[in-house]
Amino acid sequence: MPRFNESYLNLNQSYLFAEIRRRTKVFIDAHPDVRLIDLGVGDVTQPLPPAVVRAIHEAADDMARRETFRGYGPYVGYEFLRAEIAAHDFGARGVKIAVDEVFVSDGGKSDSANLQEIFAPDAVIALLDPVYPVYADSNVVAGRTGPADESGRYAGIVYLPCTADNSFQPALPDRHVDLIYLCYPNNPTGAVVTRDALRRWVDYARAEDAVILYDAAYEAYVVDTDVPHSIYEIDGARQVAIECRSFSKNAGFTGMRLAYTVVPKELRGRAADGKSMSLNALWARRTAIKSNGPPYIIQKAAAAVYTPDGQKQVRALIDFYMQNARIIGAGLAAAGFTVYGGRNAPYIWVRTPPSVSSWDFFDRVLGEAHVVGAPGSGFGPSGEGYFRLTAFGSRRETEEAIERIKTRL
Ligand SMILES: *Cc1c(COP(=O)(O)O)cnc(C)c1O
Repeated sequence: MPRFNESYLNLNQSYLFAEIRRRTKVFIDAHPDVRLIDLGVGDVTQPLPPAVVRAIHEAADDMARRETFRGYGPYVGYEFLRAEIAAHDFGARGVKIAVDEVFVSDGGKSDSANLQEIFAPDAVIALLDPVYPVYADSNVVAGRTGPADESGRYAGIVYLPCTADNSFQPALPDRHVDLIYLCYPNNPTGAVVTRDALRRWVDYARAEDAVILYDAAYEAYVVDTDVPHSIYEIDGARQVAIECRSFSKNAGFTGMRLAYTVVPKELRGRAADGKSMSLNALWARRTAIKSNGPPYIIQKAAAAVYTPDGQKQVRALIDFYMQNARIIGAGLAAAGFTVYGGRNAPYIWVRTPPSVSSWDFFDRVLGEAHVVGAPGSGFGPSGEGYFRLTAFGSRRETEEAIERIKTRL
């Protein structure tokens, strides 16, 4: 038998959403007549914007004609899409990003999991806690962390707790770290970072020769003017930050698969012998080895997001989900729960009642309100005592879910 990568044995129990599905299935099997409402897994429910659908049809027709057929595309994505990204997502906000700093991919999940590959095996990782599980797990299987302790913490990871006690604003690491994963607006807490607070992170990274991996998957949900849309709004960030974005949560591309990562050319890494290397060049090399780029049809669909119709339709989608967020937040607050998030983010982070654990509250909401949420502890040890609901449901189901929680819990 071959030896396998034993770092996989260091992963925490089961993947959070697999355990949610398992418990949900046990409940359904025992109560087949109950109609569950799922506000747990963060998946969108509204159909694609019409401008996007039109572009899919047109691109399919391109593929049907010899003259316009496309085979392999550029590893890093088509220039027609990268140019739209650079112009609209950054240029329009006064941030200069060059087309060859944009790397198009099939997902923010894959990008945020894969970026660690271009850093040293002994790089020290810092993570917000709680946070999107992908950052930790990708470093666990890369062998950077060793096994977890009973609380689920890895000795090889520097945790930055985000709880109500610090208003979900973590302190800077108290030791040197090499890689810092920041996710704002945050999944799962719905917290945001102000421009001033983000400047402290950029200054820290510059002082420590660290790199910030900035996951801005929920950028489109930002409404407050003191909250940045991109880390590159902060002076000096081009020397220290990589930013990931996705079309999943703004344009409903969770089933389409399209995202991108920005690696500025100023960003450099160093070898043990002191030689330095452009991380943009390194990521381009890595992409050339491992990808032939996302499908042409999907990239055409994404480009349609930047048309005037596409922009209007995406805005309407986000407004729709944010109205759900208000319904959930206001409804639970009226029912006496302490709620956070839901203002610049499609997640509502609920305090569980005193001495009720996240998983016990999950079971209670499932058993009594027949609503599926996500236990905070699944996102990291500091998520214990919290519970996440998403604003991505339909309006009718969202309203009914909150009504049930209000009356039955
Ligand atoms: C949904 C999400 C993404 C985007 O995932 P895709 O793979 O692009 O669908 C990235 N980061 C976070 C934190 C997310 O919640």
